[in-house]
Amino acid sequence: MGDGISYYWDMVRHEARFRLYEELNDFLPTSKRKTTFPYAFAGSPSVKDALEAIGVPHVEIDLIIVNGESVGFDYKLRDGDRVAVYPTFESLDISPVTRLRPKPLRSPAFVVDVHLGKLARLLRLLGLDTAFDRELSPPEIRRIARLERRIILTRSRMLLRACDVTHGYWIRSICPREQAREVLHRFDLRRNLVPFTRCMACNGVLQPVSKDKIRNRLLPATAKYFREFRQCSRCSKVYWKGSHYQKLTALVAQLLEESDSGCFIDWRVPGWV
Ligand SMILES: [Zn+2]
Repeated sequence: MGDGISYYWDMVRHEARFRLYEELNDFLPTSKRKTTFPYAFAGSPSVKDALEAIGVPHVEIDLIIVNGESVGFDYKLRDGDRVAVYPTFESLDISPVTRLRPKPLRSPAFVVDVHLGKLARLLRLLGLDTAFDRELSPPEIRRIARLERRIILTRSRMLLRACDVTHGYWIRSICPREQAREVLHRFDLRRNLVPFTRCMACNGVLQPVSKDKIRNRLLPATAKYFREFRQCSRCSKVYWKGSHYQKLTALVAQLLEESDSGCFIDWRVPGWV
């Protein structure tokens, strides 16, 4: 049995009380949503470990208040603690409390998980810098996020749990348009949008190109009826305002309209409620 005393202390159960705010409730079972619930623990786990055990990836969290004071992820839980946890608000200034994400990303770039190809194309359509390759492994996605300072978008909570992930977002919806709406809302991106400036196929930047330079790649009718063309600086794909463009314009308008309607955030003063 070894050290009987430490064995005894390990068995002592403590209890803290947690309340999660806003979309962090998505990670909880219905019975714990928008309410205060007990969390039993032994020893002195960090509040980060406790929250991940509860099911919340650390990258979703921006602010933790324990007994009225903001704390870091390494805070050690104590018996009787009251813990309020807030999600990342890229758009709101909540200083001087301790934000866990030191650098809000004002011109965000993304790396999108392998199962979210349609979302990647929609974000590129809106002009957002979005890396995507269906061959990427989870470690490769994390490496790209780290080296290129990209936010990971994924439906996998496991991917967001890795220690080296600093910016990420767990996509809730399974519908690509709704997923795009979530991203616009979450990162407050309306001011960052420049639709039709990126290649939907490869994320390259589109540049104006003269018709003469690409005439040999056009069908005769396209060459006859269209004057303005853009070309991808990476894969050389050529774009023009054909019938597909009209459909995409309508889609962009729809995405912006949808993101407008979902932008209300019920913000409360940090503290115990
Ligand atoms: Zn391209």
